[in-house]
Amino acid sequence: MVNDKNKDKFSFIDAEFDRRIKRRQLRQLRNVVPLNGIEININGRTMLNLCSNDYLGLSMHPLLQERSIEFIHKYGSGATASRLICGNYDFYEQVENKLAKLKQVEAALVLSSGFQANISVIPAVADRNSLILSDQLNHNSLIQGCRLSRCKVVVYRHNDLSHLTELLIENSGKGFSRILIVTESVFSMDGDRADLGGLVALSEKFNTFLIVDDAHATGVFGYQGMGLTCGYPIDLVIGTFGKAGGSFGAYLACSKKLRTYMINCCSGLIYTTALPPSVLGAIDAALDLIPAMDAERKSLQNHAEYLRQSLHEMGWRTGQSSTQIIPIIVGNEAEALALSKWLEENGILISAIRPPTVPEGASRIRLSLSALHTRKHVDHVIGLLQKWLLNK
Ligand SMILES: *Cc1c(COP(=O)(O)O)cnc(C)c1O
Repeated sequence: MVNDKNKDKFSFIDAEFDRRIKRRQLRQLRNVVPLNGIEININGRTMLNLCSNDYLGLSMHPLLQERSIEFIHKYGSGATASRLICGNYDFYEQVENKLAKLKQVEAALVLSSGFQANISVIPAVADRNSLILSDQLNHNSLIQGCRLSRCKVVVYRHNDLSHLTELLIENSGKGFSRILIVTESVFSMDGDRADLGGLVALSEKFNTFLIVDDAHATGVFGYQGMGLTCGYPIDLVIGTFGKAGGSFGAYLACSKKLRTYMINCCSGLIYTTALPPSVLGAIDAALDLIPAMDAERKSLQNHAEYLRQSLHEMGWRTGQSSTQIIPIIVGNEAEALALSKWLEENGILISAIRPPTVPEGASRIRLSLSALHTRKHVDHVIGLLQKWLLNK
């Protein structure tokens, strides 16, 4: 009975807790204190951090901090309203112009976060009569964005362009208002890459609208580190400043026309307070630093390659990883948990990733490297993994 006075209206919460505890899936927050770009303190212990997305170590860079403070002093701590009301402080468009030039596109638009961008930008582009073809391994924010579009969504097998082609052929004459393809450039769980050239060619052939999320590639790959999408004629690129950018916020890289369209139709821009000046200051500084960090990017990928090679020699599988994100696919869920726990006891912070985030039997621990990690750090991790194998 809906209004049974004796019913505990919160019982669903306990049921969810029970379910999660049984599966060892109860999520918990814990307090950490950052020490530098690669070490953090947890409960008084210094841990080597191998799970952050701060790929260039910019989160602790003095220039980002200084520019944040400078912007605060000049503009205050809050933007006071949406950009469409009175929050569009002049630095916004200065940063956007700088970004558009670097991304080699006509226009850029800064949004609040990657999550907010994805859940509001996709519904702005799709309508209820559209069809979205979405990569199987897309990030949750892209999945939510597709759902909020309230149109038909078909998931294609991960990075499988033949499957995508089949779906395009099958659906082309069906009267959809438009067909959108949605993918990431570097996939967050597997550290592999999409075939952007192939996707652009397909998109052009079938006249679809191509959306690429460059979150894990921005700052890390492409000309001047401006992302894997750089140089490709992609209709709409989304990226974040929260990862290699070292601060927060997101961006769209697109045509001038699409930028104007978003200002009119993207709820995540219209109905939210503009980002605070401090954040724009950090983004502005990151955009000055990132283009000149080729040496850091090279060393990051060299370390990743060396780590993958060493893991393969030990018999670990790393899937299709070809980036700074390296999954060690353990398979068994309990073993993935045990390994992550053991590494943590040994001072290494990594993340264990288990179903339902990945399929059954594909449990893994995921390492993500930063340009601040040295060969010594990588060797230390390899040594520990060898020890684990010996003691198994
Ligand atoms: C992290 C991430 C996001 C979310 O970006 P935030 O700025 O952290 O909200 C979106 N897409 C992908 C692929 C991501 O990995």
